[in-house]
Amino acid sequence: MSDARPAFRFAPSPNGLLHLGHARSALLNDALARASGGRFLLRIEDIDPTRCRPDYEAAIYEDLAWLGLDWERPVRRQSQHMEAYRAALARLDALGLVYPSFESRADIRRAVEARPGWPVDPDGAPLFPFLRDVMSDDEREHRLAAGEPYALRLDMARAAALAGPLAWREIEETAGTAVDSPADPCAWGDVVIARKEVPTSYHLAVVVDDALQGITHVVRGADLKAATSVHRLLQHLLGLPAPLYTHHALLLDAQGRKLSKSIGSQSLRDLRASGVTPAQVRDLAGCA
Ligand code: GLU
Repeated sequence: MSDARPAFRFAPSPNGLLHLGHARSALLNDALARASGGRFLLRIEDIDPTRCRPDYEAAIYEDLAWLGLDWERPVRRQSQHMEAYRAALARLDALGLVYPSFESRADIRRAVEARPGWPVDPDGAPLFPFLRDVMSDDEREHRLAAGEPYALRLDMARAAALAGPLAWREIEETAGTAVDSPADPCAWGDVVIARKEVPTSYHLAVVVDDALQGITHVVRGADLKAATSVHRLLQHLLGLPAPLYTHHALLLDAQGRKLSKSIGSQSLRDLRASGVTPAQVRDLAGCA
């Protein structure tokens, strides 16, 4: 039987230790779930076998429990649900919206170095499909025939034309009012929808899982707001319900940079080892 309560989720990737920014997301989701008599779910986004590690996953459970959070079991782990993503991919393929892409990031970087002013996506990566000419059709056919691994990309122009104009409902963090936020998926170009090594990508897995888990409210950092355009498009193409979204302000470090594993932001683990308490973490994360 489906559960009519609002459902919130925290969806970390186990590719490093959680920091204060993660604590903020998790605590906000938990507080909103409590305030609305809703559910709080945890999802482990571990589709990348080269970067995700079991010890980081174990650390996520331990750090969240230390913060005093509790979540529904079983936890959904994306690596265990490849068949769900394959089915979604097949649906996009049946609509004629995906194509194979052999180009590596390095190939793309080399190609754009020679073309200054190349357009980039909201994350700063060079846009496809203008790069399709990097590889000739002959070479593509040859590689396909040789069984070389390839990624699948979404033909964005076709997908966006098929869907027509789309928007999502954004509940603003401070005002709490809901506004329509127009989706602009074309700003992303032909996104990778399945990677070479796994039949999915972040965009596809997040959309499939939010629907399968019955998520009604997605509350996550403002750095993911632009990606919601792609998510809204995929929901439409796959016939999935669209949750409500809140993209919360990010915590910044003393240099004004967003906290991140890649710049070595202090982990919850380090804070705890230095004697910081869960109540102080709530305070530092702006969730007291
Ligand atoms: N797994 C993503 C991350 O670690 C978050 C995905 C989401 O909240 O939609 O940044």
